[in-house]
Amino acid sequence: MREFDAVVIGAGPGGYEAALQLAQGGIKTLLIDRSKERIGGVCLNEGCISAKAYLQSADYLSKASYFKECGIEMEIKGVDIRQLREKTGLLKNELRSGIVWLLEQAGVEMLYGSASFVDTYTIEVSGERIGFKKCIIATGAKVRETAPLALDGKRILSSRDIFEQESLPSSIAIVGGGPIGCEFSTFFRALGVDVTLIARGSQLLSGEDEDIAKALLRAFKKSGIRVLTSTTVQKAEVSNNGVELFIEGAPQDIILCEWVLVAVGRDPYTDGLNLVNAGIKQNEKGFIEVNGAFQTTQNHIFSVGDCIDTPAYAHTAYAEAKIAAHNIISGGMDCNTHISPSAVFSNPPIASCGLREREAKEQGIEIEVKKAFFKVNSKAKILGDDSGFVKIMVSSKDNVILGASIIGVEATEIIHELVLAVEKKHTLQEIKAMIHIHPSVSEILKYI
Ligand SMILES: Cc1cc2nc3c(=O)[nH]c(=O)nc-3n(C[C@H](O)[C@H](O)[C@H](O)COP(=O)(O)OP(=O)(O)OC[C@H]3O[C@@H](n4cnc5c(N)ncnc54)[C@H](O)[C@@H]3O)c2cc1C
Repeated sequence: MREFDAVVIGAGPGGYEAALQLAQGGIKTLLIDRSKERIGGVCLNEGCISAKAYLQSADYLSKASYFKECGIEMEIKGVDIRQLREKTGLLKNELRSGIVWLLEQAGVEMLYGSASFVDTYTIEVSGERIGFKKCIIATGAKVRETAPLALDGKRILSSRDIFEQESLPSSIAIVGGGPIGCEFSTFFRALGVDVTLIARGSQLLSGEDEDIAKALLRAFKKSGIRVLTSTTVQKAEVSNNGVELFIEGAPQDIILCEWVLVAVGRDPYTDGLNLVNAGIKQNEKGFIEVNGAFQTTQNHIFSVGDCIDTPAYAHTAYAEAKIAAHNIISGGMDCNTHISPSAVFSNPPIASCGLREREAKEQGIEIEVKKAFFKVNSKAKILGDDSGFVKIMVSSKDNVILGASIIGVEATEIIHELVLAVEKKHTLQEIKAMIHIHPSVSEILKYI
């Protein structure tokens, strides 16, 4: 039986980052995923990278009329989805090769197949038993299904299915008002598709700041996206013409569309792992239970990323992987003390970090809310979009920045300065006193 110091299950952002750190720290490491094509996980294969590559094309298209204003003569004939899919495939291959190269350089051994636990120190992959001293489980999450909307890959699709399509629908109903639903609404609308966004909650992006969610709703409506909040799908009937959705809570209770995208959330993926054989506990939602140091109910087995109950972002998985690997290498038990920013790559984009205004009220924390609008920002105007604002939550006691939310151009880039401010407890005065490049979008903070 082969023996390893550490075995990592799952080669997504959490798994490959952990394997790299372990091998670089001198630990004999085996990284397992179901196939070589899965290296990079959901993030690379059907999540962050694919979605953002698609959204970037949509963004170029939505700027076409502004380019004309800028004096650029050109003719846009539309979008060739096959070409976009091919280009995205090449990008994924290139990024995957980069990850494989890094893993090989670090001396990580790879194995392809589905891993399952035999006992607390043994796993099995394609009939081979492998012993380990430490293990990190990073098996990610899967698409959440909802009873009235049975996925068929043709008419009723998951986010993953979208990237397999070679044509565009004339109309789509997107069920789910979270980040994935909002990003795909942006994508399809920019490409001229008739979009209806159906959200169960009264606000889009339920975890987001209320003002930001309202601004997004206004922008979506202005772009022609039909948004139905406080609405649920009761039944779906698929025919040759498309899908009829019977909904509750909206003015018209039947919607006919060509495609339906189901984006109602994601659930932890632990199928086939036989966690019970290793004595690893899951919570009521199926997430693997971990302590602050990412140890499961077995001290020598750790878990990171989307299969544990922390924010489901690739950047969160990277951070957790680094800490779990460090704890294995050093024997210490560090926790994650970093602020995990959130991002939605909609149009306009959104990014947030730290305390939301609502949370401050709930927790009885006295804050002052400061806002600055992109209307006064010269770079935003040069870029052709001066909508949106920055909102900062500042402690009334000592002026320390406790949280921030941005909706507007480059939000997902300029948030980082505020992440640092929240993490390092900087005051508003310190950030405002910093010299920002002129003209830059980040300069907006000067006007707070
Ligand atoms: C449409 C979409 C867009 C997204 N956009 C963003 C974004 O812009 N930014 C962002 O930060 N996040 C984004 N995310 C979320 C991000 O993709 C995840 O948070 C991230 O991939 C989680 O990484 P992970 O390592 O935990 O798991 P995953 O990336 O899910 O990887 C888990 C891996 O484990 C493997 N595996 C599972 N079980 C076994 C087993 N038994 N044996 C062997 N291998 C196994 C799987 O094959 C998979 O490759 C997006 C997600 C989606 C769906």
